[in-house]
Parts: sequence; C-alpha cells; structure tokens
Amino acid sequence: MVILQIPSAIYDAMVAHAKQNMPLEACGYLAGETPSSTPSQAGENGDDPKGMRPLDPAVATVFIPMTNIDKSPEHFTFDPKEQFAAIKQVRQSGESLLAVYHSHPETPARLSAEDVRLFNDPNMIYVIVSLAAAIPEVKAYRVRKHEDVVNIVRVDIVVS
Ligand SMILES: [Zn+2]
Repeated sequence: MVILQIPSAIYDAMVAHAKQNMPLEACGYLAGETPSSTPSQAGENGDDPKGMRPLDPAVATVFIPMTNIDKSPEHFTFDPKEQFAAIKQVRQSGESLLAVYHSHPETPARLSAEDVRLFNDPNMIYVIVSLAAAIPEVKAYRVRKHEDVVNIVRVDIVVS
C-alpha cells in the first residue's frame, strides 16, 4: 500500500477548487518529493533484490490547480499550456508530479471506466474528489496495465 500525505492546506485547497468548478469537473496536479528520491537503495521499478520499495509516503507539497478545457461534468482534459508550465515549474524546483486529481461532481470517488481507460502512468497517483455527498470524499488510486489486465491499487491518503 502506497501512502500519499497531503498537508491540510493543500487538501482544503483541492476540495475548494472542486467546489468552485461545480457542476463541472475540476482537475490539477499535486507535486512533491517522490519516495524513490530518498537515499534508499530500492530500485526505481521495485525489483530491488531486497524486494520492497521504501514505505515512505509520497508527500505533496505543491498544489497546482489546472483548467479543465473540456468544461464537462463527466470528464476533463488539462490545458496543454498549463500542463507544460506545471511540468517545467516542478522540474526546476527538483520535485516531481506525484498525483493527478480531478473531481466527480455527482458520482462517488471511484475511477470511472473512462478514467481507467485514460490513466496510463503506473507511477502516477490518481486522486478523485467526490462531491456527490454532503461531505466531500477523497480517494486515491494507482492504475497498472499489463496487456489486457488492469490492476487498480488503492492509495491511502493521510492528511497532515
Ligand atoms: Zn473521473
């Protein structure tokens, strides 16, 4: 189980961004230091002979709200210019993109069939902010694909 640690200020800003965009989906990135950038000897792809990647959480330190150019309540696409700027900004500060978040204005915090189809980065954490209930629900996943098999792994969110 991977852990994504989100400071409460970023968590609140992400939920606020989702609410501001109602009834449309909101989207953006969370960036920070990756667990694998800690001075551990574990292999990048997890096949270190000792077997396990470190259990250090991925810690989000940067909140990057983006524009959903689809302007849709059911799907999202990042603005390519903003996406390019975000990648550049994060690289320059020596961090990396940890998570893509988007909101589900009316459905639960589960990956939709289209989310699963579109999410192709096995190292990215996909966060969903659901506003379907009175209290926002936030869940995170990783999506791993191998040929026809899709493996969805839950990621624990810790708000610090
Ligand atoms: Zn979705």
